[in-house]
Amino acid sequence: MLKDEHLRLIDCHTHLDQYSDSDIKDVIKRSKIKGVQSIVSAGVNLSSSQKNQSLALEYPNYVWAGVGIHPMEIDSKTDKHQLDGVRKLAGNKETVCISEIGLDYESSSANKSLQKEIFSQQIQIACEVNKPIVFHNRGASTDPIEILNRESNGKIDIVAHYFQGTINYTYMCLNNGFYISLAKTLLRMPELQDLVKTEIPLENIVLETDSYPQPFKKKRSSWTEPWEIEKVATKIADLKGIDVKEVEHITNRNASKIFGLD
Ligand SMILES: [Zn+2]
Repeated sequence: MLKDEHLRLIDCHTHLDQYSDSDIKDVIKRSKIKGVQSIVSAGVNLSSSQKNQSLALEYPNYVWAGVGIHPMEIDSKTDKHQLDGVRKLAGNKETVCISEIGLDYESSSANKSLQKEIFSQQIQIACEVNKPIVFHNRGASTDPIEILNRESNGKIDIVAHYFQGTINYTYMCLNNGFYISLAKTLLRMPELQDLVKTEIPLENIVLETDSYPQPFKKKRSSWTEPWEIEKVATKIADLKGIDVKEVEHITNRNASKIFGLD
């Protein structure tokens, strides 16, 4: 690869809607300059899902929307009205996945049975519109896999977002035909690097940055942005001892198939 030639990669999971309007313009501009081919931007509640729809309309064939209610956004007020709103957005052509949905067992999150109920209902929405799911799992062990299998019955593609699983969890995902979405955590987690090196086939890998505003980082320039996806692809190529162009080709093919992109 020439030094100034960028890879053309698909960032499968971001939260562009959470940046300020002027920042969104700049983030997308930098993404385009640095070669990012497409960005999927996931909602965390109904209004953020609507905002991602608007962004997908504003940046056609570049930004694609995920819609859904994030487990950390679920509370006792999460109701049918919001799920109906997600269902309505899910059918739009700009929506390429139901995301970000899943389970989060941090102590501050909603009670587990409520989370499971809302997760199940959103999996049913994905099946109704025949679109893939990009799911979140924090501290919930294999619960998301069990619910996904029960509710979707293999009918739709499933992507494990921000993957940092153990070897057993990795095998559960792979044996169920899930895709594994790798982020910059790969650069600093030796256990994950070992899994990528020998256990996770490129045919099951997609890439993401999970970009969102990070004011807790001192410098604006150190906030994660979609253009950094190139670092993840390069690391995978190093670990597997293959050309980074192969990582570009296969992960793009995977993402295009999952999300129905041209
Ligand atoms: Zn996310």
